[in-house]
Amino acid sequence: MKQSTPLPTPARDRTPVNDHRTVNDHRSDRRRSHAWPAATAVRVAHPSRPSGAPRAGRWQRRWIAALRGLCHGTWRHALPTQCALCGNVSHDVLCDACDETYWNEARLRCPRCALPLPRNVATHCSFCAQVRPAFDATVTLADYAPPLDQLVADLKFRSRIELGHDFARRLALASQDLLELPDALIAVPLSASRLSSRGYNQAWVIARALAQRLGVRADPRAVVRVRDTGQQALLGATARHANLAGAFALRKTVRDQHVGIVDDVMTSGTTLDSLARMLKDAGARRITNFVALRTPRA
Ligand SMILES: [Zn+2]
Ligand SMILES: [Zn+2]
Repeated sequence: MKQSTPLPTPARDRTPVNDHRTVNDHRSDRRRSHAWPAATAVRVAHPSRPSGAPRAGRWQRRWIAALRGLCHGTWRHALPTQCALCGNVSHDVLCDACDETYWNEARLRCPRCALPLPRNVATHCSFCAQVRPAFDATVTLADYAPPLDQLVADLKFRSRIELGHDFARRLALASQDLLELPDALIAVPLSASRLSSRGYNQAWVIARALAQRLGVRADPRAVVRVRDTGQQALLGATARHANLAGAFALRKTVRDQHVGIVDDVMTSGTTLDSLARMLKDAGARRITNFVALRTPRA
């Protein structure tokens, strides 16, 4: 019985169970066209192939990918693994107890920026009422707070890619309340140096899986970060906006489109606002953010 399971205690240091450090954003689409690829055409290269090694044929690669997916699904359901939060035996990313305990938030949130709203506020938060951001809506799952923040850390720094897929699954469920799904998704891009050191963009991991679940287009190269902006969290509000000026470049046409921006965490919202302004300036009709966790303001 789920209710009889003892309350799990989050564990901080565990060895990754599934190490899929194989997502290489920049190699996945070599096309120079400005057309968006179909959702089913989103491809992820396998960077474990040594440079210079002979490249497998197209059908061979498809068979390998199919077998890998089949094995992953089979093993996932046949063999227990570790819950990402408490470390107990689980057949899924989280055990039933952690799932019910920590992913059960019922909060009223600002529909534009997803900040928690007081009970007596039925519309937008005071921040959006003062200065309207460039994005129109935000979908989030919960506050960026312990123990769920550990899931983001495991995704970003310990290559637990399956956590990004789980965020995408939950965001797809949360998106059922949207009046309108986006036409295409983009991920908040990393700088080239950060992408090189990490090996993958955690936002794209979520965006790719979310696009497939929603049946919309996505492209890891639609927006690129042309300048490294460093640590935004260390700056004040005004400095954050100035720091992001000219940091991004758009590589696809977004005119008259509803674009979804995907990220793992929304902190102040400055980065998403800068991206949304760039997309709106390029003719985007509507912007919706999809963020796994949202930092509540003090
Ligand atoms: Zn657990
Ligand atoms: Zn708001």
